[in-house]
Amino acid sequence: MTELEKVISGARQICLVSHTHPDGDALGSVVGLGSYLIERKGKSVKCILPTAPADNLMFMVPEGFPLSIAEDDTPAALDIIKGCDLLMVLDCSGLSRTDFLEEHLRKSTAFKVLMDHHVSPETGDFGMVFSKTEISSASELIYWILRDMEGGTLPQATRTALMAGMTTDTNNFANSVFPSTFAMASELIEAGTDRDYILSSIYQQYRENRIRLMGWMQSSNMVVLPCGAAYMILDADTQKRFDYKEGDSEGLVNIPLGIAGVKLSVMLKQTEKGFRVSIRSRRGTSARELAVRSFHGGGHENASGGKLDFGTDIANAGAASAYVEQAIKEYLK
Ligand code: 5GP
Ligand code: MN
Repeated sequence: MTELEKVISGARQICLVSHTHPDGDALGSVVGLGSYLIERKGKSVKCILPTAPADNLMFMVPEGFPLSIAEDDTPAALDIIKGCDLLMVLDCSGLSRTDFLEEHLRKSTAFKVLMDHHVSPETGDFGMVFSKTEISSASELIYWILRDMEGGTLPQATRTALMAGMTTDTNNFANSVFPSTFAMASELIEAGTDRDYILSSIYQQYRENRIRLMGWMQSSNMVVLPCGAAYMILDADTQKRFDYKEGDSEGLVNIPLGIAGVKLSVMLKQTEKGFRVSIRSRRGTSARELAVRSFHGGGHENASGGKLDFGTDIANAGAASAYVEQAIKEYLK
C-alpha cells in the first residue's frame, strides 16, 4: 500500500484500462478508482475500454468522466496510452484481455499496476500486482484498497460504481460471495449508497427485445444433453431478428443451470470473426477448464469464457453446434 501511494502521488498522467466487452465489474472498477483518483488525489486520469459497455451499465459513469472507447476512437485511445506514465489495468487477468490494445499497452514504458481477481494472472508485464481470487470482484478488491488508503467515506461516484460492479459480478449476491463481500455492501449502504437505484438501473431498464430474446432462446434454442450440460447458440440471424444490442443476452448462460442435473452451461454468440463463448458451471465442475481446453479462454472456476474463430476452429456458423457438442461430451466423459 505504501508503494502504491508513492506510485500514485508521483504520477503525472494516469491511464486506467479494463477488458474488452466490459461487464459491470470492468466498468465499475474503472469508474470507481478513476473518480477516487480525480476527486481525492487531484490526479489527471484518463480511462480506456477496448469496446463499449452495455447501455444499462452507463448510469454509473458521472457526467464529464474521462472515459474513451478505443473501438470508437482508436487514435484518441492510443494517444492516451502514449501520454501516460502510470498504467493501471483492472479486472483483467493480463494485457491479453485488452484485445487490439494489447500490443500498444505492451510497448508503453509507463509503470504498470494490475488489480485483478482471476486465477493465474499474467504478472510478468507489471511492476506491481494486486491479485486475490478469494474475493467477489475487482470492484471489491479496489474497494478494500481504497478503504485502506482513505480511512473515511469514499466519493459517491466511487461507492456507486464499486457497489454496481460487485453486484453484477456476483449476480446480485448469488455467486462468488465472501464474508468480505457482505462487509463491503454493509459499509457502502451505511455510507448512504443507494442500492435500490443501482438495482433498478441494472436490472429494470432493459429493452423489451431483450426479454423476448431471452424467452425465445430458452424455448426454441436451448439444447439439453443427457450428459448434464446445456448449450445455446445466439447466431447472426437471431441477433438480427431481435435487433440485438450488447448486453441483451447478459445472464442468459446462467439459466440452464437451474435445470436439475445440468452442471454445465455453454452459450455462443456470433461475431464477425466467429463466436464469443460464455461458460458457467455448478460447484464440482470446472467451467474454466473447458474454456482453456476448447475455447482459447479462461476466467474463474465456475464462470469463464473464450472464443471460436472461423477458419481455424470451425469453417462457418453452421459448424458451431457440432463443435460445442463434441467439446462438451469429450470434457464430461
Ligand atoms: P462472460 O461469460 O461473462 O463473458 O465471462 C465470464 C468470465 O470469463 C469473465 O469474468 C472473464 O473472467 C472470463 N473470460 C471471458 N472471456 C474470456 C477470454 O476470452 N479469455 C479469458 N482468459 N477469460 C475470459
Ligand atoms: Mn470481474
